[in-house]
Amino acid sequence: MYKGLLIVISGPSGAGKGTIYGKVLEKLPEIKKSVSVTTRQPRQGEIDGVHYHFKTEEQYNRMIANGEFLETAAVYKNYYGTPKAPVFEMLEAGNDVMFEIDNYGSRQIKAKYPDAVTIYVMTPSFAELKRRLTARGTESEDSLKTRLGNAGRELSEYKNFDYFIVNDDADAAAEKVVDIIRAEKCRMYRNEQCVKSLLSEHNSSK
Ligand code: 5GP
Repeated sequence: MYKGLLIVISGPSGAGKGTIYGKVLEKLPEIKKSVSVTTRQPRQGEIDGVHYHFKTEEQYNRMIANGEFLETAAVYKNYYGTPKAPVFEMLEAGNDVMFEIDNYGSRQIKAKYPDAVTIYVMTPSFAELKRRLTARGTESEDSLKTRLGNAGRELSEYKNFDYFIVNDDADAAAEKVVDIIRAEKCRMYRNEQCVKSLLSEHNSSK
């Protein structure tokens, strides 16, 4: 177990996890982000190395073969992965690290690193999820159906997650994530070193 806390936020597309992630980072700017690797094309304004490390499929496959990923998943026809080395370096140095990744990636992380804190974000209803996805105006009828179907399947795997947040208000939801992080950092087993050093101070002053 590392000194830093690993926090993973997941949820279906349209649930607002990206917005919540951004708001949490504004409230707790000391938390480090992980820059994911993807094979998808950069969108307007996205900078390589800042928003994602953009790679070709060939480069991506080489990274898989070299065991460079903590997790990797195909999300709607593109590959996404979390590079292992920078994350463990940040945790080792005592930094808290947070990612916003898909459900499948989160499960892989929890399996490899059970100390990770996993949070699932969902809309108050499926009707609301449909409304938000439709309002984006980016989904065809087919893609809308696929995303809603995936959201149902993912939610049925809810037991893989430690926490559940209903996003009916992004600010309130982000506040809940901050509360979870603060509480997790106070867990006794994460503070054993501190307790032991207090006890040793106490014992040596006897
Ligand atoms: P977008 O292409 O819109 O930036 O992201 C699409 C989806 O990929 C989002 O649901 C996001 O959570 C997920 N994603 C982004 N980075 C990663 C990653 O490193 N691993 C996994 N498994 N999913 C990711």
